[in-house]
Amino acid sequence: MAETLTASLEEISVELKPAKANPKPGKLFIGGEFVDALSEKTFETRNPATGAVITPIAEAGPEDVELAVRAARKAFEDGSEWRNMSPRDRGRLLWKLSELIRANAEELAELETLDTGKPIFESSRFDIPLAAECFEYYAGWPTKIAGETLANSAGGEALVYTLKEPVGVCGQIIPWNFPLQMLAWKAAPALACGNTIVMKPAEQTPLTALRFAELTLEAGLPAGVFNVVTGFGPKTGAALVANPGVDKIAFTGSVEVGKEIMRGAAGTLKRVSLELGGKSPNIIFADADLETAAKFALGGIFFNQGEMCTAGSRIFVEEAGYDQFMSVMRARAQKMVAGDPLHPKTRLGALISEEHLNRVLNYVTVGKEEGASVAIGGARIGTKGYFMKPTVLEGVTNEMRVAQEEIFGPVASVIKFMDMEEGVREANNSQFGLAAALWTRDIKKAHAIARRVKAGTVWINTISTTDNAVPFGGYKSSGFGRELGKSAIDLYSETKTVWVDLNQ
Ligand code: ADP
Ligand code: MG
Repeated sequence: MAETLTASLEEISVELKPAKANPKPGKLFIGGEFVDALSEKTFETRNPATGAVITPIAEAGPEDVELAVRAARKAFEDGSEWRNMSPRDRGRLLWKLSELIRANAEELAELETLDTGKPIFESSRFDIPLAAECFEYYAGWPTKIAGETLANSAGGEALVYTLKEPVGVCGQIIPWNFPLQMLAWKAAPALACGNTIVMKPAEQTPLTALRFAELTLEAGLPAGVFNVVTGFGPKTGAALVANPGVDKIAFTGSVEVGKEIMRGAAGTLKRVSLELGGKSPNIIFADADLETAAKFALGGIFFNQGEMCTAGSRIFVEEAGYDQFMSVMRARAQKMVAGDPLHPKTRLGALISEEHLNRVLNYVTVGKEEGASVAIGGARIGTKGYFMKPTVLEGVTNEMRVAQEEIFGPVASVIKFMDMEEGVREANNSQFGLAAALWTRDIKKAHAIARRVKAGTVWINTISTTDNAVPFGGYKSSGFGRELGKSAIDLYSETKTVWVDLNQ
């Protein structure tokens, strides 16, 4: 992660490879066709590495959202093609989608890097293959979704069983940090259960969702099963949340918008699942392998420029190991150099937008005002694109804003602690509870703390790993509902109970 780089910011190509950078520019994907927004309004998506416009994107209004929801409703209710498809064939379709993602992986990785500013190393090694793997994983599920036969004591003889049925039309609203991967986490299990989808990608990063829409045509997904409406949150996203034809909203994004979505969904009592932010503690005990812990701590906070909801952004270090840990951390962080995201050697890309960069930089100022010191970084790099130095704040205490608020950028807050009790107490002292990591060689201590930390995921002697088979989601303000694994099958299905009286 921290190897020296050869690509420099001066080398960033302003010109994009135009042939592949424009999947259906300016169109929505509704009912299996690429169509203009009824208003014909468009907006632009930009390359964060240069600030240059990539392509126009259609801005869906409530009337376009309505058309997409109707297409999804029709595809859902008209059972012949989709709902009554055999589990075997549905599984094959999901598998086909994974194959198509793999077959177009290079192009998808390039689109993702252009749109997000993340290194091509990451999009080609992680984002795209992991999205393909997610479809592979869920391709195995349609044939295994099953209800139960239940014992009952209601009196008399009865056969009681449950059926698992799709929820219906799912509105899925996703963020800009891992666009295709977030699409896969939501679309794959929803499709495996037989739902239909209206997907709303983030306005900053719509390109891979549009390219994926083309792939659904190639795979032979029936028209209307998967639709894409592009546009801004308060207009396009909110219209999807309010639309009475939508049965469920799945959202990944900020806490504030999560609350907004719950309010918006309340009027029609939609099912809601939310994956929100985090301020995940990474707790380093003095008895850990400190070299490895420091190396992983860097990945935990600087991967994807720190634009990760699971970022290990509060690094708690036990005093006895502090100096050793920090010397490794400092040396390695200093070697991380931002570069052209399209260069294969680059390991640190650009932040999503100028506005976001300024927000992240402002936290450095806030941290200093609160009494923290900048151990490494703390500044923008250059003036072209939205690059920032990997930043480590030292002398942070847990009640400071830089320890309590999600920064969503390459800024680590390092907090010293004295003993286990203090470490666990302070780690839990947060509105968030998405993930936590802890490093120790003491297995008893590790498991004991895993039980006490309030977080949806606890990593012991590792950080930031996820797997399609493993549930993922948050405690407290980090949201509710678990994605991935069997949990996501439950998120996207209703349970129906059937009673058969055997006495008559
Ligand atoms: P971030 O602050 O990281 O950009 P957001 O929570 O604002 O994250 O955005 C995540 C997703 O939610 C994006 O697709 C965005 O367009 C959408 N969104 C933002 N505001 C709303 C809203 N009021 N209603 C529905 N969706 C929204
Ligand atoms: Mg963009």
